[in-house]
Amino acid sequence: MDDRRFGQEDSRGNWVPEKPISYGPFFEWPPNPRALLKFFFGFPGYFLPWNVLYAVAALLIWTYLTPPLETLATFSPIWAGMILGRNIVLALLVYGAWHVWLYVWRRQGTQFKYNKQWPKEESGAFLFKNQTYDNMFHTLVSGVPIWTAYEVLLLWAYANQIAPMIEFSTHPVGFIALFFLVPFIHEVGFYFAHRLLHWTPLYEMAHKLHHRNVNPGPWSGLSMHPLEHVIYFSTIALFFLIPSHPVHMINLASRLGLAPAQGHTGFDRVVVGNEASMDTSYYAHYLHHKYFEVNYSDGMVPLDRWFGSFHDGTPEAHEAMKARRMRRSA
Ligand SMILES: [Zn+2]
Ligand SMILES: [Zn+2]
Repeated sequence: MDDRRFGQEDSRGNWVPEKPISYGPFFEWPPNPRALLKFFFGFPGYFLPWNVLYAVAALLIWTYLTPPLETLATFSPIWAGMILGRNIVLALLVYGAWHVWLYVWRRQGTQFKYNKQWPKEESGAFLFKNQTYDNMFHTLVSGVPIWTAYEVLLLWAYANQIAPMIEFSTHPVGFIALFFLVPFIHEVGFYFAHRLLHWTPLYEMAHKLHHRNVNPGPWSGLSMHPLEHVIYFSTIALFFLIPSHPVHMINLASRLGLAPAQGHTGFDRVVVGNEASMDTSYYAHYLHHKYFEVNYSDGMVPLDRWFGSFHDGTPEAHEAMKARRMRRSA
């Protein structure tokens, strides 16, 4: 498949998608019913593949890979350790799969790769002088344990009626509706956490570490300072307030823990077979890594448009970003 059918190379040889980044029709007024139907039921769309995949994964994780509530009611390092082990395995499988496919086997070469350079093997900016090893270290030594700590705390809280819990049998509508709400909680939570991390003292102390990855790969996704992990995963604590079932909390926690892999692949699409391609559409976050001050969120909710930090990839948006910079330094 030829990536020039979908975009072009700029003067520096970077691949730029042809279509500007858009938020989809969810917040458009007046509503466009056809576009909304396509947004929800198209492929890729709101349901397929990712939101359904994460919801099914949460049901499986809760049913087969989480101890029952009776066990969770009494904290024990044994079950907490089991959940840590389960999350480490999930991270290795998901981050590892994206990394091996795109960066070790290089199954599609640099097709659809925004930055045609491969991450440097030797770079003094990274631990072990290697971007991938550095990223794996921060993910597995800090990211997954802090994700697990929030999850363990919430599981214990559900089991002790400290976090408000609902069951499918008593609240079927709320139970299903929460699966629709989790992607929004994820996105809005990420936006505000991320905005906070760009506040200069926090940026210097913590978020700078994530931003060393100017040419990110899948493992860059959760490669953060421990303080950033604490802030990033704190969205999970919202379930102390939202009546829900542990499966919804697991749905959000595993998205926060695993979705950054696909958000940082550095590729616009994954080529499957000869013609079909899977649109990963993470150009917005790629531009965030490139320019820092744009696109704090990426997805369905036009937060960056509302707050004036949107860069849709077009030359006009680029000029607008530069004008904002000039005004700030004037
Ligand atoms: Zn990032
Ligand atoms: Zn950032």
